[in-house]
Amino acid sequence: MIGIVAVSHSARLGEAALELALQMVQGGGVLVRVAAGAGSDADGTPILGTDAVAVAAAIDDLAADCDGVLVLMDLGSAVLSAELALELRMSDVPVRLAPAPFVEGLLAAVVSAAAGGSLDVVAQEASASLGAKTGQLGDANADGDEDHIPPARGAGEHGADASSVESGASARPGAVVRVVTVRNPLGIHARPAALIAETSAGADVRLRKLPDGPDAAAASLSRLLILGARQGDDVELSATGVDANGVVERLVALFDEGFGEGFGEGVTEVPKSPVAATTPSVETETQARSPIAPGTVLRGRGVSGGRVAAPAVILAAPLDEPDASEIVAPDDRESEVSAIEWAAVAVADQLRARTSTATGEARAILDASRLLASDPELVAEASALVRIKGRTAARAVWETAVSHERGLAALGGRMAERAADIRDVRDRIIAEILEVDVPGVPEREEPFVLVAVDLAPADTAALEGGSCVGLVTEQGGPTSHTAIIARSLGIPAVAGVVGAAGIAPDAIVLVDGDRGTVEIEPDPVRADAAKGESVVVPFDGEGMLADGHRIRLLANVGGAAEAVTAAAAGAEGVGLFRTEFCFLDRVDAPSIDEQVAAYRGVLAAFPGRRVVVRTLDAGSDKPLPFANPDHEDNPALGVRGLRIARRSPALLDDQLRALARAAEAESAVVEVMAPMVATVDEARAFAESARAVGLMTVGVMIETPSAALLASEMLEVVDFVSLGTNDLAQYTLAADRLLAELGELNDPWQPAVLRLIGAVGAAGRTWDLPVGVCGEAAADSLLAPVLVGLGVTSLSMTPRALGRVAAALEAVTEAQCRAAAEAVLKAATAADARAAAVVVLGSESVGGPVD
Ligand code: PEP
Ligand code: MG
Repeated sequence: MIGIVAVSHSARLGEAALELALQMVQGGGVLVRVAAGAGSDADGTPILGTDAVAVAAAIDDLAADCDGVLVLMDLGSAVLSAELALELRMSDVPVRLAPAPFVEGLLAAVVSAAAGGSLDVVAQEASASLGAKTGQLGDANADGDEDHIPPARGAGEHGADASSVESGASARPGAVVRVVTVRNPLGIHARPAALIAETSAGADVRLRKLPDGPDAAAASLSRLLILGARQGDDVELSATGVDANGVVERLVALFDEGFGEGFGEGVTEVPKSPVAATTPSVETETQARSPIAPGTVLRGRGVSGGRVAAPAVILAAPLDEPDASEIVAPDDRESEVSAIEWAAVAVADQLRARTSTATGEARAILDASRLLASDPELVAEASALVRIKGRTAARAVWETAVSHERGLAALGGRMAERAADIRDVRDRIIAEILEVDVPGVPEREEPFVLVAVDLAPADTAALEGGSCVGLVTEQGGPTSHTAIIARSLGIPAVAGVVGAAGIAPDAIVLVDGDRGTVEIEPDPVRADAAKGESVVVPFDGEGMLADGHRIRLLANVGGAAEAVTAAAAGAEGVGLFRTEFCFLDRVDAPSIDEQVAAYRGVLAAFPGRRVVVRTLDAGSDKPLPFANPDHEDNPALGVRGLRIARRSPALLDDQLRALARAAEAESAVVEVMAPMVATVDEARAFAESARAVGLMTVGVMIETPSAALLASEMLEVVDFVSLGTNDLAQYTLAADRLLAELGELNDPWQPAVLRLIGAVGAAGRTWDLPVGVCGEAAADSLLAPVLVGLGVTSLSMTPRALGRVAAALEAVTEAQCRAAAEAVLKAATAADARAAAVVVLGSESVGGPVD
């Protein structure tokens, strides 16, 4: 008898799926356990999630009565919990994790187990269970036309097949049409989709997966993801509009460059798109690595805030792909197999040793890698390749890892980003087999910025406590390990930087994790300012002027890991919790339960302390597919921040409700504020909505000149304001904050910005209400005393800057701050304003960001 464990995030989903499955066998003697949910919160509300211990217990429970156990999982962490359960279980019954769809797989497995199938047969039945549905529907339901959902085959009167329902992109009259091949290993996932959407501005572009796949508007991120285009797939581009030719050329180049993600290790390079002959040729490996000219600014995605300048250290190149043509003689194959087994054990041991000295996220990541290294399937599959095909041990491990990696990539999202785990373990095992050095982070005494194609989890874990002060990767996204570790270490990081491979070793790079830029050999003055920022000055946890006047020094965070780092750095609380950072990788809106869990993670780090939570600031530089599904020509001036509630009021309502629940469950003093507010009516409506769910301390961000000029009226309807100086500068100077070449305009020292801050500070003094600054200006240690003089009562910043800003404030009195404020308000230029501040404050040593 084979037992079945169903692992689900939701107890209700697990039970319902089981009920359905048991209908198939009418209760006929199948042993099934549901391991679902992650307990319940203080109110007894079930928490969605999975628990490895519960899964292990369910396996052990079945073990006595079964010859084997098949585990089915719904998604995401269910898979990780099931893997971990294999380590935790006490029994030694054979267990198999089924890569099967949860509901279909459960039905098939129950039927097969009831019929007395062996573990192999039950597992096979479960895995093949999706075939019926895909066979029946093909790709018809993945059609990309937003306005026209075709009927499922055979379901409607018209009964049209997929290709005739969708006329096909190429049928558009006058369209410029090209066919391209997807060349990057992960296919069209979120980042390439965003690049396609961005590049398509200026034409009406549609993409169709060939030969008869769905079609999607290039402007729709979620539709592009639904295309499901993978490496090697051909895609038809069709564009109409004034710049159709130019846009198509640029798109062809993007595809041919593999969206800057390369073509994957161990993956045969897919030939360039045959019709792309007129586009610039793809850079060869050597060209791509030729040094980048000083002053060049590379762009990517800022995944961890802050700025730093330091010499680049290039991560050692990964191992060469082992030769596939080398065949091991039959007599020697068993010794190759044992080489694999020994290497896997040795790597697991090394990782275990490193795990014992690591903490937090680093420890969890090392643990996951260790589990992969000791994964019996990986070793078994590689051994089979040696025995059956005569592959060398190294080659067999390589091939097995590639197939696992592809499996993860096909799952998309977070699972796809775990592909780096597999590559890391693969390299470690192969290095062990070949007795060569393991690729890894070089040891350095001096501060450095680590530049890599992508960081392996164990590499990022090795950064803890080291001299790495910034990260730049060609690949990766907001949920990659690079991002997670960088945020938990509190160091700036930019991921997805096309061309990062060309950064020369030891070149000084200025990494701006807020703007997502990497500047090569920047101007020495700017480099020095950023270098100064990277020196962490300890903070004693209390912001104060020389005369004892208190200025609260708070942290900007984007999730629980950062909150823990911030608390450890002495932050007095959180002045800006960017909630959108918790959901950057989500295509669909997070449920209230998921939000409660995310918010509680941050609140828990600051018991009894003030935490200012900002509602979703989606849009513009931080688009969220579920909040900003539509293309906007001018997203910075579009439906972003609070304005999203105009279209999707439920998003804001759910978030406020979730936050109220999280606040209720934790002891942090929760305040809520809205981003991108322009009118008093918006502020009033937001305050009413927040107070209606019990969030009584409500504020708004001052990020638009309108809000700044109306600060006094805003403070009539809210309890505090917080100056988002990044956006305030952008909108005051009409300069895109992401454009490095407009850096000198996006400067809080610009007199117009200072005068607006002064107006807000004055309103705060009139009403005797708090005025915070949570933009980058707060981390500028020369500007901080000026801001205080202008009426600012708290400063919120990256935790690394707390000590430096605290030291600058401790050196001056309130009277000096006010004098400095008065002086800068008379300045006509940003340079004059800085000079005036230095004269009054008498310090040139406290230089801050001057970008
Ligand atoms: C700002 O605009 O200054 C701010 C703090 O918000 P964000 O950087 O998240 O837009
Ligand atoms: Mg802002």
